[in-house]
Amino acid sequence: MDLNLLHDEYGVDTDLLDLALEVEEEITPEWKHLKKIASVNHLKVLTAFKQLQVSSHHLLGSTGYGYGDVGRETLDALYAKVFRAEKALVRGHFVSGTHAISSCLFGVLRPGDELLSVTGTPYDTLQKVIGLKGNVKGTLRDWGIIYKQVDLTPGGEPDYPAIAQAINKNTRVVALQRSAGYQWRKALDIDTIAQIIRQVKTINSELICFVDNCYGEFVEEREPSEVGADLVAGSLIKNPGGGLAPTGGYVVGRADLIEQVAAALTAPGLGSDVGATLDMNRVLFQGLFLAPLVVREALKSAVFAARLFSRLGYEVLPAYNSPRADIVQGVLLGDREKVRLFCQGIQEASPVDARVTPVPWNMPGYQDEVIMAGGTFIQGSSIELSADAPMRPPYAVYVQGGLSFDYAKIALLCAAQKIRQTKG
Ligand SMILES: *Cc1c(COP(=O)(O)O)cnc(C)c1O
Repeated sequence: MDLNLLHDEYGVDTDLLDLALEVEEEITPEWKHLKKIASVNHLKVLTAFKQLQVSSHHLLGSTGYGYGDVGRETLDALYAKVFRAEKALVRGHFVSGTHAISSCLFGVLRPGDELLSVTGTPYDTLQKVIGLKGNVKGTLRDWGIIYKQVDLTPGGEPDYPAIAQAINKNTRVVALQRSAGYQWRKALDIDTIAQIIRQVKTINSELICFVDNCYGEFVEEREPSEVGADLVAGSLIKNPGGGLAPTGGYVVGRADLIEQVAAALTAPGLGSDVGATLDMNRVLFQGLFLAPLVVREALKSAVFAARLFSRLGYEVLPAYNSPRADIVQGVLLGDREKVRLFCQGIQEASPVDARVTPVPWNMPGYQDEVIMAGGTFIQGSSIELSADAPMRPPYAVYVQGGLSFDYAKIALLCAAQKIRQTKG
C-alpha cells in the first residue's frame, strides 16, 4: 500500500496507517479459515455449472413472455443444486430481498394461518410486510394472517422452550432470520439453524421452516436448505449476485412451495414458466460463479474492520476472531454524529459518488431514519462496500461488503479518520 498517497490524498494519519499494518498481521489466521470456506463453495458452484452443462446459449436472454427461456431455467436449476434444494426461483423480477421474502410469505400463508418468528423482531422492512408497523395496506395482517414472535434469549440464543410453547394448531410458517439486521446480536450459524429446524419438525413435521438468508450465502460451507429449511430467500444485490447482478432476488426450497411462491410473484397459472430475462442471464450466472470469492473479500474486510475499530476502542460485533455467520460487521459508535462521520468516510473513499455526503433519510419500508453510505456501481448494493445505520440508540453502524479487500481497507481507514474529528 502506498502509505504516502493514503496520507496525502485521504488525510489518514500516519499512526492509523501503522495500526492498519499491525491489524493486517493480526488477522492472518482468520484469513486462512476464510480461504478454506471459499474453496469449498467455489467447488460447489463450479460442480453445479459442470453438471448442468451451462453453455453459452444459456447466457442469452429472452423478451416478452419469456417462454422457453433455457437460460432462466438453467439458472434456477443451478441455484437449486448449489443450495441443495429441490427447486429455485431466481428472478430479476424480484425488486429486492424484501420482495422475495414477502412473496414467500404471501405465497404459502392463508387466512387464519399463523406466522411464528423464532428469532425475535424481523428486519425493518418485513415489519411492514407483516403489518406490525406503519399504516400500510395489503399487509399479511390485512389478509387475516396472525403473527407471533419468540425473542432470542439475552445471550442471542434461540429460546427452545418458548418456541415449543408458541407452536399451536394454526402455526403454518416458522421464520428464522440468519443475519442480525439492525439488531445488536450475533448472526445465527448453520448449526443453530439446523437445531431450531430439528426441534420444530419434531413438534410438527408439516410446519414450513422459512429462512431469511440475506447476507448469509457462502459465509459457511452449508446453506439453510442443506439442514432442513423448506424455503430460503435472499437478495441478488447481496452475496449470491457476486457484485454483478444488477437487481433481483432468489428463493430456493421444496418444489411445491416454490410453485406457490412463483404464483405470488407472477400470477396463479403462470408461475415460474414466464418472465423475460432481457439481458440479465449472463451477469446472474457470472455473479453466482464469483460469489464465493466476493464473499471471501467481504468477510476479510469485516474481520479487518472488527479488529481495527476494537483496537481504536470501540465495541464491535462479532469480534474479529469469532466465527461468522453473515458478512455484516457491527461497530458500536454510541454517538449520532460519529455514525454520520463514519458513513461520510466510507462514502468519500467510494469509486462512485465519492463527492456525495450521506445524510439520514426516511427510506421506504423503514421506521426510523436511516443513513446509508455506499458509492456503489449497483444502487444500494450491499455486497459492495457499504455502511448503514438506523438513527436510533445505541448508534451502531453496520458495515458490510467490499468487492476487494484492498479497497475496503482504504475506505475503513477513511472512516476511522473521520470519527477522530469528534469527541464523545
Ligand atoms: C437486506 C436484508 C433484507 C432485505 O432487504 P432488501 O433491501 O429489501 O433487499 C431482509 N432481511 C435481512 C436480514 C437483510 O439484511
